[in-house]
Amino acid sequence: MRLTFYGGSKLVTGANYLLEAGGLKVLIDVGLFQGSRFSEELNYEDFKYDAKTIDYVFITHSHIDHIGRLPKLYGSGFRGTVYATEPTKAIMEVALPDTLDKTALEGREMGHPPLFSQEDMEGVLNLTHAVKYREEIKLNETVTATFHDAGHILGSSLIEFVVQENGQNKRMLFTGDLGNPPVPILAPIDYVPDVDYLILESTYGDRLHPSKEECKQKLQSVIVDGVKRGGVIMIPSFAVERTQDLLFYIDELLHQNRMPRIPIFLDSPLAIHITKVYERFTDYFNPAAADFLRQHGGLFKFDWLTFTPTTDESKKINDVPPPKIIIAGSGMSQGGRIIHHERRYLPDPKSTILFIGYQVKGSLGRRILDKEPEVKILGEKVPVKCFVEAISGFSAHADQLGLVKMTHEATRGRGLKKVFAVQGEDYSARALAVKIKLDMGIEAIAPDSNQSFEL
Ligand SMILES: [Zn+2]
Repeated sequence: MRLTFYGGSKLVTGANYLLEAGGLKVLIDVGLFQGSRFSEELNYEDFKYDAKTIDYVFITHSHIDHIGRLPKLYGSGFRGTVYATEPTKAIMEVALPDTLDKTALEGREMGHPPLFSQEDMEGVLNLTHAVKYREEIKLNETVTATFHDAGHILGSSLIEFVVQENGQNKRMLFTGDLGNPPVPILAPIDYVPDVDYLILESTYGDRLHPSKEECKQKLQSVIVDGVKRGGVIMIPSFAVERTQDLLFYIDELLHQNRMPRIPIFLDSPLAIHITKVYERFTDYFNPAAADFLRQHGGLFKFDWLTFTPTTDESKKINDVPPPKIIIAGSGMSQGGRIIHHERRYLPDPKSTILFIGYQVKGSLGRRILDKEPEVKILGEKVPVKCFVEAISGFSAHADQLGLVKMTHEATRGRGLKKVFAVQGEDYSARALAVKIKLDMGIEAIAPDSNQSFEL
């Protein structure tokens, strides 16, 4: 069998891997390349393979850097079957139309034809088949696949492939993005032993996160200090999982009287929509979160929290005097409503911007986080005078320790033959590969884009 890395190689985004085995061509993830723009130029290039010849696509999870080019694949002639877990499919149905709008807008600005059309999007969703964790999917006589819980976002998966070749079973595991447990809502990671080849994410392959309790304390102190200064606390947040987890932590801080009661706005139509999808899939939650939901009649209903789905409601946030908390997308400030709040409050020395997620190189979020004194927003120069804070431990990605643990679990039994570190910037991916090689004696590399391996 052969494995080729078409995206997500020494890059966090654009995940796209081709597995050729048992006479089949199977893609794992068809993600969008993201950087300074929501959709980078690279997305407009043709696929390096013939989309018409692809039999199956397996989706690890519904983040855009894993699903964003799926409709383009349909537009390029793909008519096979897409497999995803039930929540992944439900979130795709919300996230892809949002991607269509954002890429159409950016495409016009960049003078491109649209990346994909409404028909492409509907076409690929019609080909998408929802499955449950641990359900064995037989692709043909020699290849089977199974989804396992990756604990990253709702419905996220490790995908295991078993290929029979020359009387041997070869087992391959794609981690997609791996979670950073414990998390308030999700069930724990469902580790898989007896793996030959591990395709391991490496976003934080060179770093360790602080503990969740330390993160909660930091969240508390950022909010309390921000309120004392009487400013606005802006939190750019990813619509899927991070926002829901953050609301859960804020609710807890309020319950425990660890922060003052101030207005909190969830100013993201996408996050509001996805929050509703979450409430449909409580059987994917951990038992404590499912109980909480049953007792409270909703996970994200607490005093002081206002959802502002419409533009008018969003504008009215400006009339509410500070202190106040505004949670809005996009998570890396590559558009979305957060940039309007940033334009208004970044120059205010009393205000705070708090990053709780990964900021990709080149994004506006990364430039603010790297303390550039001035940034450009909507063509305007905006000085950054507010407090800039970051909490990396709320990340939905495992740190180096979590990734090494994943490797230990996967090598149990028959022993890993090779690890491929993907979905990390060059340095993180290589640092993780070196760590695995030195500490565990397992062959590990960070593959290059378009590199193929016979396994
Ligand atoms: Zn992800």
